[in-house]
Amino acid sequence: MSELEFHQVAFESARAGINYLAFIHSPKTGETACVDAGDAGTIKKALADKGWTLTHLWITHHHPDHVEGLEEVKAATGCTVIGPKEQSQPIAGLDVLVKEGDSFEIGGHKVKVLQTPGHTLDMVNYYIPSSKTVFTGDTLFSLGCGRIFEGTPEMMWDSLCKLAALPADTTVYSSHEYTEGSAKFALTVDPANTALQTRARRVFALRAEGKPTVPSMLSEELATNPFLRASDPAMRAHLGMSEASDAEVFAEIRKRKDNF
Ligand code: ZN
Ligand code: FE
Repeated sequence: MSELEFHQVAFESARAGINYLAFIHSPKTGETACVDAGDAGTIKKALADKGWTLTHLWITHHHPDHVEGLEEVKAATGCTVIGPKEQSQPIAGLDVLVKEGDSFEIGGHKVKVLQTPGHTLDMVNYYIPSSKTVFTGDTLFSLGCGRIFEGTPEMMWDSLCKLAALPADTTVYSSHEYTEGSAKFALTVDPANTALQTRARRVFALRAEGKPTVPSMLSEELATNPFLRASDPAMRAHLGMSEASDAEVFAEIRKRKDNF
């Protein structure tokens, strides 16, 4: 089984800042998938640059910065569009509806569907076990997580736990470059974390040069992302929440970030 190739490009959206689009390509079959379709022009240019033909879109959720270019890309390429079965708002143009436990293939590699509601109720993420790569949409970010618009903190915590349980050497592709602000916030809730201090310095240096901080390794997130660390004794002590449940600690961190 030949390896899959991964490629990431960025575009700016007025509402959401820097968005990332991730491409998955099989040199064996020529199949190419793109995770989400927030900007048709960026997708078409990336395909032309790589000489790839789009065969699939894997949609994570209904927000405009993830689906605005869907119909234009589909019309231009004739690709098959995979997306959430449990829709909180209708997404036009979906061909294949997927839910937790479903899987499909690209280039002979299995892709597992994970439902991770919280940011939205329809959120699905895509995990490729053979290449230990996950596409987390707006659920898990580098050093952060999505705002809770449609779900509850408990639901979002469960979704993050599902991602945290993947192998630690999984590569995490998320949809936004929010890492610099997330690092500044993380230092306020987990100030004694030396791994976080080191990562934050690296993030500030990368962003000063305009370089991406996505993708990241899940092991790094487990060590430094406060939204995955609700059970960490030092952070709980810092928050004065040593007796609270993990979900309560997560909810407090999320609330503080919303007001940061
Ligand atoms: Zn979103
Ligand atoms: Fe988004």
